[in-house]
Amino acid sequence: GSWYTVKAQNGVFYECRLKGRFRIDGIKSTNPVAVGDVVNFNVETKGDETVGVIDRIEERENYIIRKSVNLSKQTHIIAANIDVAFLLVTLNNPTTFPAFIDRFLVTAEAYDIKAVLLFNKIDTYNQDELVEIKYLAALYRSIGYECIGISAKTEKNVEKVKEIMKGKVSMFSGHSGVGKSTLVNTIEPALDLKIAEISLQHQQGQHTTTFAEMFDLSFNARIIDTPGIRGFGLVEIDNEELGDYFPEFFKLKEYCKFNNCLHIEEPKCAVKEALENEEIAWSRYRSYLQIMEGEDEHYRKDNYQE
Ligand code: GDP
Ligand code: ZN
Repeated sequence: GSWYTVKAQNGVFYECRLKGRFRIDGIKSTNPVAVGDVVNFNVETKGDETVGVIDRIEERENYIIRKSVNLSKQTHIIAANIDVAFLLVTLNNPTTFPAFIDRFLVTAEAYDIKAVLLFNKIDTYNQDELVEIKYLAALYRSIGYECIGISAKTEKNVEKVKEIMKGKVSMFSGHSGVGKSTLVNTIEPALDLKIAEISLQHQQGQHTTTFAEMFDLSFNARIIDTPGIRGFGLVEIDNEELGDYFPEFFKLKEYCKFNNCLHIEEPKCAVKEALENEEIAWSRYRSYLQIMEGEDEHYRKDNYQE
């Protein structure tokens, strides 16, 4: 809506509105300010009412957007200044396909956000499934992504997740049912109460029902909670640019014969050679082709519970 809850440096929360119209970074969005933004505001008092008026938004480290599916294609800023995006992955109940992981990672690269893969429900897997998890973790580690096998339920390796979160702003993504709420609850049991309290306040006020929030956790970490979002919105990426967001392709690009090589039909392509030599995973290459062919309309719809 047009009201924002801002936490001042002294820890006090203020209900703020915007001063006039804002346009930042040259992007035209339905919301000029998003959760995670750092703003400057002045306090105005009218009668017994105190409100804040936001007059400046600090430059963002990064931000994630969503384009509305309808014709207007308006941009909505989901969140800003995210340090780490965790993707929860499960083999079954629900199944997370490598294509989904790859789209998430490409988007994180494009947004310039550090991505970490959490293979959750490790307590439920049989021997074969553990082998598969090991394979996936080794694959993504070899590309440079941190991977942790965890159990939100038995708390296995949850300390490792907290260690990464310290001093940072984190976001948790993943299909519905992968264990996001369970993990957040394990990380900070007191948070459930806090969320309930805040949504009650919002219901009583004249605020809209969908809002994204940032929470301060007890161990100097912050999380951004954006209701209904299981992944990132896809940014529009040019075909020429896409390979740059697959780090293992990008490393080889300089060895391709053509410097604008798309790694498809071109002769003397270092990426195709690496693929033939099994130095690049076929699943990664398939995801690359899929994204390039623009099969993302389905993905986009699947990605949001609107
Ligand atoms: P969300 O939709 O991503 O928030 O998923 P939830 O946190 O609601 O979890 C979905 C279901 O998976 C719940 O029944 C959880 O109890 C269960 N679950 C979550 N994490 C684990 C885990 O590590 N191990 C097991 N066995 N179950 C889990
Ligand atoms: Zn190439």
